[in-house]
Amino acid sequence: MLAELSSELIVEVQRTAKLLVAKQRICVLTGAGVSAESGIPTFRDKQTGLWSQYRAEDLATCTAFARDPQLVWSWYQWGRQLVSDKTPNPAHHALAQWQQHAGLKNQQLTIVTQNVDDLHEQADSTVTHLHGHLWRNRCSQCDMPHNGVSNSKSFNRVTSNRNSSDNSSTAHNYNEKLLNCTDCGGYIRPDIVWFGESLPSEAWQTAENAAANCEVFISIGTSSLVYPAAGLAQIAKQNGAKIIEINPNPTPNTVVDITLVANAGVVMPQLFSQISVLLS
Ligand code: NAD
Ligand code: ZN
Repeated sequence: MLAELSSELIVEVQRTAKLLVAKQRICVLTGAGVSAESGIPTFRDKQTGLWSQYRAEDLATCTAFARDPQLVWSWYQWGRQLVSDKTPNPAHHALAQWQQHAGLKNQQLTIVTQNVDDLHEQADSTVTHLHGHLWRNRCSQCDMPHNGVSNSKSFNRVTSNRNSSDNSSTAHNYNEKLLNCTDCGGYIRPDIVWFGESLPSEAWQTAENAAANCEVFISIGTSSLVYPAAGLAQIAKQNGAKIIEINPNPTPNTVVDITLVANAGVVMPQLFSQISVLLS
């Protein structure tokens, strides 16, 4: 595994591990990049197939749903199908192992994610979701939770049941029929925070407190373009934290102290392995 890292990066990972074991409170913010090696495209990746003519930023909005709920619902159903068989990669597993290990060593590792997939949970991490959950639905009018699919496992089950009784269904038209709220008749929408909407207040409070109180803030696989999540690193910095970024590409984040320029699935297992040696 070490062979996958350049000698400069190995030195940086070792330096980062030494810094991390000397601290108690660590806040990790993950973005779409942490799930990229599981096969889930990021927002900056160009959409493929049927949806190649659309930009994700133009579909994930209230205005788009108000204008064409069918289009937006269909896009999410396609997205759910794309994500339904995806599993955690070594970055999710390393974070989960570190979180469990940290508890034993009196370290506190708070994981906050912008992702709407459930790969952190599948890897057994405790995580705060800032932007909602791909597998949950609610009414677009009265906000009542809609009991449909609640996680990727039940979605898989629903998909395979349906496909076994309906051989004509294709990947892109699965379950695209709009649903209505049983209470008020409004359209059912995914329980996801769209561009321009406020973040769930409890999740934001958890994230803001963790950022303000941490000694090290680690930003993994996020473009640092989507606010307010992108502001968490600045909150941490203003409160004296060191900022680490893990991303193969440059970002506009100007408060970073250490950048590990590589894929999260390569760096995170190395970082955790160094941390566990130093902590033992
Ligand atoms: P983004 O798409 O804006 O940026 C992804 C970042 O990940 C980029 O900076 C890219 O360089 C980096 N990256 C790509 N591959 C990587 C890897 N292997 N390791 C580390 N980094 C890698 O994503 P964002 O910053 O999270 O913000 C966009 C919004 O998109 C969020 O609100 C999020 O909810 C949503 N989104 C979520 C998912 C998901 O749940 N998996 C997928 C796509 C978009
Ligand atoms: Zn309703």
